[in-house]
Amino acid sequence: KTLPAKGLAVVAIGGKFKPFEFQRHAVGDNDIQIDILYASICHSDIHHVKGDWGKEEFPMVPGHEIAGKVVAIGKNVTKFKVGDLAGVGCMVNSCGQCEYCKAGLEQYCKDVVLTYHDKDQFHNNETTQGGYSNNITLTEGFAIKIPATADLKKVAPLLCAGITTYSPIRYAGVKKGDKVGVAGFGGLGHMAVQYAVKLGAEVTVFDITEDKRKDAKRMGAIRYVNVNDSAQLKGLDNSLNFVLSTIPASYEPNTYLKMLKIDGQMGIVGLPPYAVMPNIPIDKLIWQGNRKVFGSQIGGIKETQEMLDYSAANNIYPEVEIIPATATAVENAYKNVLDGKVKFRYVIDMKTLK
Ligand code: NDP
Ligand code: ZN
Repeated sequence: KTLPAKGLAVVAIGGKFKPFEFQRHAVGDNDIQIDILYASICHSDIHHVKGDWGKEEFPMVPGHEIAGKVVAIGKNVTKFKVGDLAGVGCMVNSCGQCEYCKAGLEQYCKDVVLTYHDKDQFHNNETTQGGYSNNITLTEGFAIKIPATADLKKVAPLLCAGITTYSPIRYAGVKKGDKVGVAGFGGLGHMAVQYAVKLGAEVTVFDITEDKRKDAKRMGAIRYVNVNDSAQLKGLDNSLNFVLSTIPASYEPNTYLKMLKIDGQMGIVGLPPYAVMPNIPIDKLIWQGNRKVFGSQIGGIKETQEMLDYSAANNIYPEVEIIPATATAVENAYKNVLDGKVKFRYVIDMKTLK
């Protein structure tokens, strides 16, 4: 038995979106079925559609920032009831047995099942399809509870942009008075700024445009640096405790490494196309010794729930622009993200899907 679904799919690399009908696995005993109300556009979706990270399979329904309402539950489900709000991020299942799963780090499980562009080995290798669609079924363990009081149209981006920045900021132990840099001030970056400001850090934002200077100040940053103007970078070496890079394109990582104080840390979440992947040569790490560099992938399920509750309680949300669920609107939104024209996340109103 399967669940009929429809969405917007890309049929070939870099290509156009088209309406697409497909089947999902039906609600199992431990599963919930969600009617998707909102799905937002992460730059990762665009990397996949463009083939920036290697081979992809099509048709592909992107989308791993999902918010909706539970419409059916399996007989063993305890975490949700019909009518509850639920969110889904980048993953829908994992082995549940390995040391990473047991530690709440499911994203590092070797059997993790991603929300789209993946094979679901727990469901006969079904091709997973994402959130630009009308519904989704998944095990209740990978769905996130959304408080009924949350501002639902702004919740979806928290499921990837929120957790991907919250997690490394916590991992790095950012605290009151720390000097924090956020490189790349887009969907992820503007969440990072809000979390770091809330924790009491002094935040400096780095981007490649003048257009977002006021936005950074409004969100509580003390400084905004347009890295295309080298004069604005003066005096920043050896000044930061932590810098988070969310940059999705080619850049010089040593610019930021040099800004770290002794014991400072650089977290990297932005994943540029393979063809232009930046590198940190060993000599740079040694000349800038006793600083630590780490990469980070989203965050585990427990931490994602913690992030969502924290965001709702502190009124930390993305700034969003709502668009209809049409191929034209999504294609236009992709173009605007690539052109640096989005402030700060496009959210697709999936209720408008024809
Ligand atoms: P956005 O496009 O919304 O934001 C990227 C921002 O970086 C834009 O503001 C852009 O500038 C800016 N930027 C581009 N080049 C530079 C540069 N050289 N220096 C400084 N800023 C620059 O993307 P997202 O926030 O959605 O995603 C960011 C990256 O994070 C992507 O590569 C994505 O795949 C990755 N990602 C990683 C995850 C993980 O788990 N590690 C999870 C989710 C996403 P402009 O103002 O011109 O737009
Ligand atoms: Zn994402």
